[in-house]
Amino acid sequence: MEPDKLNLSLIENSHTFMTEAVRKAISAREDIRQWQFAILNLVQSVELSLKELLRREHPVLIFENIDAPRNTVSLNQALARIENPKILGITIPEDEKRKIAKAVKLRNKITHFEFDLTAEYAMAKFSELFAFLVYFQGRFLKLEMDEILSQDLLQSVIDIEKCFTELRDKAVQRIKDEAVSQDLVWPCPNCGEETFVIEDDQNVCFLCRATAEVTECPQCGQLCFGHEMHDFSDLIDSDYSEGQVLIHNDYGYSRFNACPECIEKIREDIEQQRADEYYRFMEEQEWHSRRQQLPDI
Ligand SMILES: [Zn+2]
Ligand SMILES: [Zn+2]
Repeated sequence: MEPDKLNLSLIENSHTFMTEAVRKAISAREDIRQWQFAILNLVQSVELSLKELLRREHPVLIFENIDAPRNTVSLNQALARIENPKILGITIPEDEKRKIAKAVKLRNKITHFEFDLTAEYAMAKFSELFAFLVYFQGRFLKLEMDEILSQDLLQSVIDIEKCFTELRDKAVQRIKDEAVSQDLVWPCPNCGEETFVIEDDQNVCFLCRATAEVTECPQCGQLCFGHEMHDFSDLIDSDYSEGQVLIHNDYGYSRFNACPECIEKIREDIEQQRADEYYRFMEEQEWHSRRQQLPDI
């Protein structure tokens, strides 16, 4: 074996297993026996991710016995160290731990060929654990699933109905855990769920990882999706000649785009100004024609 290929870091390894797990889950649609490999790979990926968090705290923490660093910790021991208030002190909720324990049990059964797996059960277990892994990596390792999975795999795994539900619950959970203010959580333009988070440097859906441009409406200062902004330069009085736009009347606006809330008011305002202008013009016309009709004194 080539040594450089073996020398993958914990996290690279975890991601290789995660990618493989997703591939197997997708191929399980045609061949349900693939579920067992999906689950094996997934549990492996979870174990390596937990170890990576310990390693980041201190490299020796991944060993069972820190005085004789030979064997690395089991998944359960890794969990215990992560939760230990003197080590990392991160609380993993009881129901998550139960799901992990069940998945480990299932993994052991699969490796000893003592299992009877229905597609529905396998999909449920896979989805639960997959959503946990996505949550865990995003929240504690600062690695998001779109950095790990290709766009195709990401979309395919979200398309697994059960995965979608579990991922949505975890996304909502993460928004709560990270104390994101409610007005910065919008419906996602891609998946439609209330999981799109507006943040200074990243505007991203915590569920499907879609990103979108968010801009400030120049009229009211509210934040708005870039694709929802309306361009109203066609309402401005202007000519285009010799490569230049000549503005005759800007109706008091300096920037010609607006959010959906502002656009109607702006249309009405410009219409009103045009009407006023027209009446003024007509009045002037009338005044001139009256003057012309007056007999010379
Ligand atoms: Zn989304
Ligand atoms: Zn506005």
